[in-house]
Amino acid sequence: MPRKRCCWPCSPPHAQGAQRATERAAQLERQAFFDALTGVANRWRAEALLASRLADLRCGAPPFGVLVVDIDHFKGVNDRYGHGVGDAVLREVAAQLSRHVRSGDTLARWGGEEFVVLAPAAGEGELARLGERLRQAVAAAPLAGHAVTVSVGGACATRKDVAATLIARADRALYRAKRAGRNRTVVETGSE
Ligand code: GH3
Ligand code: MG
Ligand code: MG
Repeated sequence: MPRKRCCWPCSPPHAQGAQRATERAAQLERQAFFDALTGVANRWRAEALLASRLADLRCGAPPFGVLVVDIDHFKGVNDRYGHGVGDAVLREVAAQLSRHVRSGDTLARWGGEEFVVLAPAAGEGELARLGERLRQAVAAAPLAGHAVTVSVGGACATRKDVAATLIARADRALYRAKRAGRNRTVVETGSE
């Protein structure tokens, strides 16, 4: 008859329960703050950070801006290759953006095929350079085996901004990038 396996010295039952509770808490935190598909921060997290950065700015913190990064003609990827390939492209675009943001930047999935970057930036020039770096990084390599491009819109935060006004300005710049032919970066000027 096989001997019953013993794992002594094992953790007492209360320690196992505490470990399970810690793992569960970590899992809930991941689900609350991170996008399940791409692993980057989710919109909820981005909105909370944006509100807090704007509050800091009003108290004299260094300037920052937002970039809205939108995959070009993404619907066509889904239509041609299927939703699974679309999901793979989304994951790889997120990974490529993660590799090219700077250490103080925050990348988040804003929704659908749109990402935002909250970026410390002294002005429009610095924000535009970061946007271009991200755009070029996506365009440079096939992602999930497909040629993908993004358009980038940006705006620098002002002390008068709330999250909605800042995102709306970055969105307007994105719209101009799309209208101008896509695969380009437009940062709003004159927001000081
Ligand atoms: P544009 O260059 O103007 O941005 O065109 P677009 O096709 O990228 O934009 P559009 O808004 O027409 O389409 C976005 C598509 O993104 C439609 C939607 O089905 C797809 N999408 C949104 N979320 C997901 C997702 O999680 N996975 C996949 N595979 N597709 C998604
Ligand atoms: Mg798009
Ligand atoms: Mg979009």
